[in-house]
Amino acid sequence: MNVMTNPCLICAGDVGDVELGRVRVWESDLWRVSTSLIAPISGFSYVEPKRHIPYITDLDGIEATTLGTVLSSTSRVIKTITGAEFVFVNVFGQRIAHLHFNLAPHVSGGPLRGGAGMLDASAPPLPADDLEGSPRKSAGSST
Ligand SMILES: [Zn+2]
Repeated sequence: MNVMTNPCLICAGDVGDVELGRVRVWESDLWRVSTSLIAPISGFSYVEPKRHIPYITDLDGIEATTLGTVLSSTSRVIKTITGAEFVFVNVFGQRIAHLHFNLAPHVSGGPLRGGAGMLDASAPPLPADDLEGSPRKSAGSST
C-alpha cells in the first residue's frame, strides 16, 4: 500500500519504519519483521502481516495459517541473538490499527515483567459475576 492513499504507518513499510524508529530485518511475501532502534529493550521486535489486517480478531486467510511458524522462528532468532531466557509476545492494537506482535526478549533481572506484573497494581479484582460470558467462563471453568 501507498502511504499517500493509506495513512497506516505499518503499511508504509520502510517509510513507516523511519517514523516508528525501527528497521526491517526480515520479510516474506506475507510477513515482515522489524527491530526497534529506540526501545529500551535490546532486540525488541515486531512481526506483522504485510496485508492490512487491523486486529487479531480480523486475522484470516494464509496469514492465519502461517502465523505460528513465523512467530516461533522469529522468537527463536531473537532469543539466540539476545541471549534472552524468554521472548514475551504481546498484541495490543491501541495505537496503530494494523495487527502487530510485540516480541520482547526477557532476561532475569531485566525491566520486563510477565504475568500479573503486566497489570496495574491498583486494579481491583473482577467481581465473580463479571466473569459471565468471558472466555474463561465459556470454557467451563468454575472460577
Ligand atoms: Zn496497515
